Amino acid sequence: MTYLADKKISIVIPSHNEEKNISYLIEQLRETLTPTGYAYELIFVDDGSRDNTLNELKINAELHTNVFYVELSRNFGKDYALKAGIAMAHGDAVITMDADLQHPPQLILKMLKLWENGYDIVYTYREGENPHGKGYQKVTSKLFYKGLNMLSDIKMENGTADFRLIDEKVVKQLKLIDEYEIFFRGIIKWAGYRQIGIPYVPSKRHTGEASYSFPKLVKLAVGSIVAFSARPLYIVSLIGLFFSTLAILYIPYVLVSYFLGYAVSGWASIIATIAFFGGLQLLVMSVIGVYVGKIFMQSKHRPHYIIRSSNVVIVNNDFIRV
Ligand code: UDP
Ligand code: MG
Repeated sequence: MTYLADKKISIVIPSHNEEKNISYLIEQLRETLTPTGYAYELIFVDDGSRDNTLNELKINAELHTNVFYVELSRNFGKDYALKAGIAMAHGDAVITMDADLQHPPQLILKMLKLWENGYDIVYTYREGENPHGKGYQKVTSKLFYKGLNMLSDIKMENGTADFRLIDEKVVKQLKLIDEYEIFFRGIIKWAGYRQIGIPYVPSKRHTGEASYSFPKLVKLAVGSIVAFSARPLYIVSLIGLFFSTLAILYIPYVLVSYFLGYAVSGWASIIATIAFFGGLQLLVMSVIGVYVGKIFMQSKHRPHYIIRSSNVVIVNNDFIRV
């Protein structure tokens, strides 16, 4: 294989309750990456794990000089964990991947080849349905991508994964993004550059349980769509316009009926109208509310995550182990 030996790859791995996967993943990555000749560093982000993940990371960081970790002060969510890891990475390319071995390490070789051929971003998307997902996830996942593609200006393949290679020049730009509830899969599409998607078949989780619950997924889905588009606002304003036009057309009918003495006291029609417009107003307001919430959170300018500990400090763009 003709890999460029003097380049360095940073692999960023968000980890939440992955105690039994860490050592195995490191071993798999070593087997995959050593033959390429690339220097590489593994940056694990412990995203508020409640199990032994941090200890596992400390042990491995003692064993391997290219294993680094940051411990976040609590569970901030995967995208913030990714942000924390990317902030530290300073390789010629950064690869992000899950800690549970659902992202096959072997695919990294293909990513590196495409990168060497001039692509700035190599992202992956799931081939077909997720064979390891829960039943309802087949429907919700499809709905999410349909909704996102319909309502926003980015187009994403079904099952786009947080398993991707990003060239250093793109990483530099990503580090500048200071967005609340950052959604990397969308940001990557939005960023442009020369990018290519490759399909992958997810493996089974090595050990442990997936940590995203249904309410968390719904919040993520709404947040992501809102982050990428103001189109829901335009849609509700169109609905509002449609019904206010109808109402205006209705008024002459009401007036004429009144003056001709045809007006009857219609309880059912009044209640139905009040209920309908009451519901519609709440819907419109809630859509606006979601956007106001985004502005509110963004306007606080809080840090997106807090680091509790790490085995590394960065001095002059170099890692110093502590
Ligand atoms: N993860 C994280 N923070 C969280 C939830 C998950 O860092 O709050 C990590 C997790 O350790 C794994 C990756 O994100 O490396 C994907 O999570 P998971 O396997 O639970 O989700 P799924 O496979 O359903 O995408
Ligand atoms: Mg997983």
